[in-house]
Amino acid sequence: MGIQNLRPSPISATVDFDAQGVQHGFLRLPYSRDDSAWGSVMIPVTVVKNGEGPTALLTGGNHGDEYEGPAALFDLARRIEADEVRGRVIIVPAMNYPAFLGGTRTSPIDRGNMNRSFPGRPDGTVTEKIADYFQRVLLPLADIVLDFHSGGKTLDFLPFCAAHVLTDKAQEAKAFEYVRAFGAPYSMKMLEIDAVGMYDTAAEEMGKVFVTTELGGGGTATARSIGIAKAGVANVLKAAGILKGSAAPAETTWLDMPDGDCFSFAEDGGLIEPMFDLGDRVAAGDLVARIYPVGRTGVAPSEIRAKMSGILCARHFPGLVKAGDCVSVIAVVVD
Ligand SMILES: [Zn+2]
Repeated sequence: MGIQNLRPSPISATVDFDAQGVQHGFLRLPYSRDDSAWGSVMIPVTVVKNGEGPTALLTGGNHGDEYEGPAALFDLARRIEADEVRGRVIIVPAMNYPAFLGGTRTSPIDRGNMNRSFPGRPDGTVTEKIADYFQRVLLPLADIVLDFHSGGKTLDFLPFCAAHVLTDKAQEAKAFEYVRAFGAPYSMKMLEIDAVGMYDTAAEEMGKVFVTTELGGGGTATARSIGIAKAGVANVLKAAGILKGSAAPAETTWLDMPDGDCFSFAEDGGLIEPMFDLGDRVAAGDLVARIYPVGRTGVAPSEIRAKMSGILCARHFPGLVKAGDCVSVIAVVVD
């Protein structure tokens, strides 16, 4: 990035991040538009502070069509009390709030993908302005960052908590301690297709302990997946010493995405026939999916074969697929 003299963020918080107690308010971002001349985007935020201690920054709705994070965090924000906290908890249940309200991955205002918009810009699009506020105001306050994701409308995942391989091995080890504390059914050493512009990368480059999840998908959430999210966030806060009590993580299966061979992408569009379900064991060379051309009958489907052995940890969700879509992700079980 280099040294830049950036203007202040246009976002103002209606809460005081240094005040003791529980505050519910908004990150208010001016957004002038046809239906509201001097209007604003009002992003809900809760801050809970009690004495001195570490700060956890908890976010959902980085992508607007992923629901475990918002469900767990709206619930936590409503219930959390100052006397059960030591340190500070900052909760933003729906980070890309316009995308969350639209039920879409990216913002309906500017098509901005929050997780490709970092470090953001104070004079950029609405999505870039939100990213910039996290980059320069909220992330620097945090010691530990937990960002909830799931597959959204187009992917479905086995429920896992994840962290990344980092060059700073102490930072990496700390992140994986919190992945274990979260206690999702699966725990992943995660590889990103393209880490540039991600919130994850921004937090990690600041030296923060960063933990993320993929808890389901298909543009909805289930009783089970929301339960995993609620238990996970409580466990992480307890492991950090911020919430009273001891973490009680459930059994987990460790997974690894060793290289790009774990991803398969469609080269043709059409109707997808999955040959495996999430959690199934797959061997290298196995047929993972068929894609039928739908223009006429009598045409052979194209075949997607596994490039490595492991278990199916993600799959394309809608029944129709386009060229370039991610069809499947395979991860290796670490014994
Ligand atoms: Zn996401």
